[in-house]
Amino acid sequence: MSKFYKNILLVLVILFLLALVVSSAYQNGQSEQSQALSQVASEIQAGKVTSISVNGSALDVTLSNGQHISSEKEIESSLTDTLKNYGVTPDELSKVSIQVQDQSSFNFWVGTLAPTLLSTLIIIGIFWYLMRQARGGMNQAFTFGRANLKPFTNFKERVTFADVAGLQEAKQELSEVVGFMKNPQKYLDIGATVPRGVLLMGQPGTGKTLLARAVAGEANVPFFHISASEFVEMFVGVGASRVRDVFQTAKRAAPSIIFIDEIDAVGRERGAGLGGGHDEREQTLNQILVEMDGFDRETNVIVMAATNRADVLDPALLRPGRFDRRVFLDLPDINEREAILKMHAKNKPLAKDIDLRKVATRTPGFSGADLANLVNEAAILTVKNGKDKIAQQYFYESIEKVMLGPERKSRLISDREKELTAYHEAGHALVAAGLKDSDPVHKVSVVSRGQIGGYTLKLPLEDQRLRTKSQFLADIAVALGGHAAEKIVFNDITTGASNDLTVASETARMLVTKYGMSEKMGPMTFGKTQEMIFLGREISTEKNYSEEVAEQIDQEVKKFIDRAYRTAEKILTSYRPALNRVAKALIEHETLEQDEFYALVKEFDLKPISV
Ligand code: ADP
Ligand code: MG
Ligand code: ZN
Repeated sequence: MSKFYKNILLVLVILFLLALVVSSAYQNGQSEQSQALSQVASEIQAGKVTSISVNGSALDVTLSNGQHISSEKEIESSLTDTLKNYGVTPDELSKVSIQVQDQSSFNFWVGTLAPTLLSTLIIIGIFWYLMRQARGGMNQAFTFGRANLKPFTNFKERVTFADVAGLQEAKQELSEVVGFMKNPQKYLDIGATVPRGVLLMGQPGTGKTLLARAVAGEANVPFFHISASEFVEMFVGVGASRVRDVFQTAKRAAPSIIFIDEIDAVGRERGAGLGGGHDEREQTLNQILVEMDGFDRETNVIVMAATNRADVLDPALLRPGRFDRRVFLDLPDINEREAILKMHAKNKPLAKDIDLRKVATRTPGFSGADLANLVNEAAILTVKNGKDKIAQQYFYESIEKVMLGPERKSRLISDREKELTAYHEAGHALVAAGLKDSDPVHKVSVVSRGQIGGYTLKLPLEDQRLRTKSQFLADIAVALGGHAAEKIVFNDITTGASNDLTVASETARMLVTKYGMSEKMGPMTFGKTQEMIFLGREISTEKNYSEEVAEQIDQEVKKFIDRAYRTAEKILTSYRPALNRVAKALIEHETLEQDEFYALVKEFDLKPISV
């Protein structure tokens, strides 16, 4: 809107200037002491005129007394003719010297044409200006189909493999890609086909984007980075043409690397999804496939892509000749975590006694990004506490902050609420301590964090890839421990247990339907969960079993829950004094670390059982 007003204002200003120019041009023709021609004629007849200089139609008359008068003649006729018409005889005229100035006609033309010319020019200018604006809009419409591509060769900070901690296998795999980029002929000579597509797969934060950048940094070739969601933003139909554009640009810059980040945004299995919009994705995906097929053997362009949802990718993308190289990035193990922590702590002032190995021990399940964030949080905490060296304790505090969000010590809770929370958390912790297959309690707290009122952290002793049925059952029992404690102590239930119940029920259902851990149902999976893209959630589970089976599943789930709940109850009632002790300690100290907790329950001689 403001642009519109600006244009109007501009036009008004121009019109005003135009008026000024034109009026001043007309004024130029008149001068003050101008006399009528008849007056000049009579002066000549009186013999008072010595000379007249003619300049176009303007006359400068010099009188014998030295005075000057100016006048005008008609434009077309000559001065002598005009004067004759006024009755001046040739004789009288001969006494007057008449000089005709040369540039008169030029001046005349300028005088008459300039205003017209100027106004024409200005009008053309206005038109040009408006046209350009309109065309600018059209140009914008045309460039929607263009991907706004910048080659990333000169990153501010060049990332190399040395900047990626751990991930040995992935680096190994990718150094082949680098080798090919650097020396393609060697590979071609031996008849090896060039990898066309490399798919990086791994959970969020495992370093996919980082690794792709490192490949570019190592290979030292142009690196085109685009997020798949950029293909399909704003307008329908631009995705495919953007893909074309990206591939063309990359081919022109070959050897080069195209990196499509978060490719699952366009590469989801075709035909899955609700409503419109997926059509656009399909076209974009098709175009990517077409472009990749269009590479010939010599094309020195490698397409890298990253996703954290390899499970939803369209099979066509994974076919040989497309993204046939797949590189898995796992969550870091303890050694890798230590290495990542070290890397990110490298340029930070650390206290002397810092032991990052211990931090790594306490952070199973953390991704590289989590660890980077952890180091940063520790640094922030250090500043907040007015220290100049990062101490071990700040690392520990940051672990929980990264996991659970910041503590909310300021939130006021009533004594009653605190007591309830204390017993609830003590319930979780005690059940965990009383079960053989549960992970040990790492920390219990009634300080609220983020959304939750209190929490009990239990961490596995080591990184685990597989979980057993007994571990799952223990998990369910621990999850129900809070609920059971509330029931036993207060004979009442709070809403605080509702999330625990969800966790317990879901785990139990998975045991039956997904992991085949129910003896009665047997080693079978039930239900086919279809990924539907609706606000990013899976919304439909296809039931591929009968009503009877559904009933049996429900019964089995209930059996697992009941069993776990009974176990939790048994532990809590038989060790009721321990429960009280832990709860009281929580009310007093709010937070119990691992050693403090186990020291508290030690004298009760807990005999861990199985569910
Ligand atoms: P994603 O897999 O989600 O693309 P990123 O590559 O964006 O993850 O990683 C995010 C950040 O986490 C990186 O910028 C880096 O600081 C850190 N990071 C992740 N993995 C590593 C690693 N292996 N070594 C060092 N830093 C890492
Ligand atoms: Mg990423
Ligand atoms: Zn709970």
